[in-house]
Amino acid sequence: MSEKPDPMTVPFGTVFCDWMATARSQDGVYEYSGHVEEYGDFSLSPAAHALHYGSAVFEGMKAHWQADGSLAIFRLDDHVARMRQSTAQLRLPIPESSTLREMIVDAVEANVAEVPAAPGSLYIRPTIIGTEPNIGAAATPSCEALLFVVNCPVGDYFKGGVRPLTLLVEETIPRTTPQFGMVKSGANYAMALAPTLDAMEKNSAVDQILFATGGDITETGAANFFLADEDRVVTRQLDSSFLHGVTRASVLTLAQDLGYNVQERPIELNELAEWANRGEAFLSGTAAVLSPVGTILRGDENIVFGDGEPGPNTLRLRERLVAIQSGHSEDQHGWRTTVGS
Ligand SMILES: *Cc1c(COP(=O)(O)O)cnc(C)c1O
Repeated sequence: MSEKPDPMTVPFGTVFCDWMATARSQDGVYEYSGHVEEYGDFSLSPAAHALHYGSAVFEGMKAHWQADGSLAIFRLDDHVARMRQSTAQLRLPIPESSTLREMIVDAVEANVAEVPAAPGSLYIRPTIIGTEPNIGAAATPSCEALLFVVNCPVGDYFKGGVRPLTLLVEETIPRTTPQFGMVKSGANYAMALAPTLDAMEKNSAVDQILFATGGDITETGAANFFLADEDRVVTRQLDSSFLHGVTRASVLTLAQDLGYNVQERPIELNELAEWANRGEAFLSGTAAVLSPVGTILRGDENIVFGDGEPGPNTLRLRERLVAIQSGHSEDQHGWRTTVGS
């Protein structure tokens, strides 16, 4: 294999591991050979459903080196469950949990030599696309599908490591349609792209757009939004308008363990200025981990949280999460799946 660039210095998700797992479904059942294959291009009909009608879903999770030298995938079964849910929403053939799980584990085991040391990790990207060759099938599901699992050695998602992010509020254009927000599908990203680029063009300091249609905060482009202070950890209640992050759920559990008053409720833009005086804001996601928010720009208003630096509660929760992901603290909730031997 040719020499690959250092994953810690190149952009997230641009280096791919040598091995992948694939399975095709013809009649609703994914036929997995039980063996990985070399990473490479697919052969696909130009009439494939996904290319025309957007029948594609994906997942994103990570494997981390552990304190004891083993390798563990974080919350594998939760990601498998969410992927099956997304697949159902697009009416694609749903893989058996056991097949999906086996393919993910096999890919990770095959690529173990390419997993970077902490703070690096292995990003795992299972994807399902509708492959039925039928461009008349706009209003019918794709009965044929391709499931594949590829891996990337990764460093930090946001350039510059753990640093306070600047968010720009978008109050008019939603990220996606309300009923589709909880589906992990490329279609949602396609919808959010133009408004995100348009908004960011006006301010080069902006890291992410915070979608808050009519003042009601949902999430950023690829991470969930939290408020915190000494006593409370607050995030939006689950509804179909936004992606139900596995990291979000992990943060809520850890916050509860630490004795915070955990609140899942609507968050209004109008609350932010007051929170900024005495509290903190952060984002959560597999790629983002737990990223402090320093500033939120809303029209002419410049909302700076504290002194604009990462807050103590944010860092405390982040450390707690990373300690579990990396095997430095006990896995009280059964979140780690050890792979290899
Ligand atoms: C994947 C994703 C997240 C984060 O989910 P995690 O399970 O925590 O990685 C948040 N928002 C969107 C839109 C996503 O696609």
